Amino acid sequence: MRYCLGIESTAHTFGAAVVTVDGEILSNEKEMFATLSGGMIPNEVADHHRKVKDRVIERALQQAGIDISVVDLVSYSHGPGLPPSLLVGMECAKELHDKYGLTVIGANHALAHLTIGSLVCKVVDPVYVYVSGVNTQVIALAGNRYRIFGETLDVGLGNALDKFGRAIGLGFPAGPEIENLAQEGSYVELPYVVKGMDVSFAGLVTKAQQLFSKGVSKEDLCYSMQEVCFAMLAEVTERAVAHTEKKDVLLIGGVAANKRLCTILDVMCTARKARFHAAPLKYAGDQAAMIAWQGVLNYLGGKRLETFEFYPHERIDEIDVVW
Ligand code: AMP
Ligand code: MG
Repeated sequence: MRYCLGIESTAHTFGAAVVTVDGEILSNEKEMFATLSGGMIPNEVADHHRKVKDRVIERALQQAGIDISVVDLVSYSHGPGLPPSLLVGMECAKELHDKYGLTVIGANHALAHLTIGSLVCKVVDPVYVYVSGVNTQVIALAGNRYRIFGETLDVGLGNALDKFGRAIGLGFPAGPEIENLAQEGSYVELPYVVKGMDVSFAGLVTKAQQLFSKGVSKEDLCYSMQEVCFAMLAEVTERAVAHTEKKDVLLIGGVAANKRLCTILDVMCTARKARFHAAPLKYAGDQAAMIAWQGVLNYLGGKRLETFEFYPHERIDEIDVVW
């Protein structure tokens, strides 16, 4: 086995990538659903993916300099995610299987974020802080399972930022614009909600929306959203580091793009004598190299596809680590 073609389609991004069995990333192509206003409507996202899938796969193969006939394994992200989007990725894999007789395997999207982060940052066994649109989880390996030490009790951090962004008239995704506006803001109080090892963002978003309608500036609200949300996350991460005694923290997921979040976690790590790493932007958010790499790990670990299925709610702590 040499080449694995990965297909990502869990949420806003349709991606295709070629990765070798040794973890060399030969291509990583994607197209992202975006809107100027409003959020992600699942069926619109799936339509977007159907429209772009062939050309994205074509580009990934071209960029890698290989023909579909030499692909040894196709890995699709089988969840968690939006069912209409997941269906597109699975159909793609099935089409390649039916047309070219390619071997197919499924990969968990969240797990793939972790393992690509470890691969490209060369970090072994960190505490992972996984912050994407839907997900906010602090995760570490214990035995042969990844354990979720803390997570959001309601919306993911990215979605919280996007929801607030929508309320103040920003497009989707709102995270980058919030980061910009925050630079001009100062602090107004927002609810800081940590329960045990878990965090909650929903009340904070509502409160920020209320303050906006009362005339508090976008800049102040963006600044305060960031400070409060990121401090909550740092508190939980710090406790996970203390508990597990791991020496590294690795930030992954699309929100890893945020420089203020990186700074806050870095300061916490330094105080704890741990090392902080953030996945480079092109591997932090949704893309298909991670699905290809997770497919390689699954396949080499002995996993095989039984049926073409997808699992919108599959959790990372349900999966046996076989690699
Ligand atoms: P993912 O689902 O992993 O692709 O991450 C997408 C999420 O990351 C969206 O909710 C974005 O708003 C968020 N995001 C992207 N860039 C930034 C940023 N600079 N600051 C905060 N959030 C961001
Ligand atoms: Mg993701």
